Amino acid sequence: MAFGQQRIEYKTIDQMRIMRRSGLILDAALKATIAAVAPGVTTGELDAIFAGELKKAGAKSNFLGYYDFPATICTSVNEEVVHGIPGARVLETGDLISIDGGAIVEGWHSDSARSTIVGGAAAEDPADRRLSDITEESMWAGIAAMASAKYVGDIGDAIDEYVTSQSGPELGILEDYVGHGIGSAMHMPPDVLNYSSKHRGPKLKAGMCLAIEPMLVRGNLETITLGDDWTVVTKDKSRAAHWEHSVAVHAKGIWVLTADDGGAERLAPYGVTPVSLD
Ligand code: MG
Ligand code: MG
Repeated sequence: MAFGQQRIEYKTIDQMRIMRRSGLILDAALKATIAAVAPGVTTGELDAIFAGELKKAGAKSNFLGYYDFPATICTSVNEEVVHGIPGARVLETGDLISIDGGAIVEGWHSDSARSTIVGGAAAEDPADRRLSDITEESMWAGIAAMASAKYVGDIGDAIDEYVTSQSGPELGILEDYVGHGIGSAMHMPPDVLNYSSKHRGPKLKAGMCLAIEPMLVRGNLETITLGDDWTVVTKDKSRAAHWEHSVAVHAKGIWVLTADDGGAERLAPYGVTPVSLD
């Protein structure tokens, strides 16, 4: 996604509080959707569950109708990396699915994704579990870095360093898709790279809200978009995982808007304590 000359949007504390409401509704809706993942369930049924949860909570979908996207979540299964369209596909034991969703409350957006394996622990390919776990932890490493980062580029360094420390060449960080600013729109500047780059990006400042979303693959980094113009798959059909949280930077610290504890539990091992927006 390219943002041209658009400027970074710096949020007030009140605006970030509305984004937190949006994020908490999204977190609950994603949890309900993930809980419904089972063999025999269709991705279309998951979309209906998520849509129902948003409606019940009084939030709107920012995915539905986005460049004519036809659903409220993206469901990306196995070699599908991102932007999979929910529909008649029936989930099978051992499938690796990522569910990416978003919400709007009073015009303020949230965006989050989680991956899971269909059928529970007994059905898992250990290599898929490792892929998802390392993707998730690399996201937390990136979020933890936000607490002390000078530049947005420091986040990509932390994600890259974590992945490199955990894996040999068997896992790759996708470079075609990156994280982004979020606020009064879902996708805003700046880009947030998931890998180290000489390009440091803008300074990280209070009022910035960023979606941190590493995508990792078990094979080659090359992707193609299917004929539906949405679904991104790995060219070599290797499996992919995707995790994402929306995070606020404010004067006193960071707060994960799409986690019900602000990220406290997962950030503790990094020595980072999220600071409430209250
Ligand atoms: Mg997303
Ligand atoms: Mg996103």
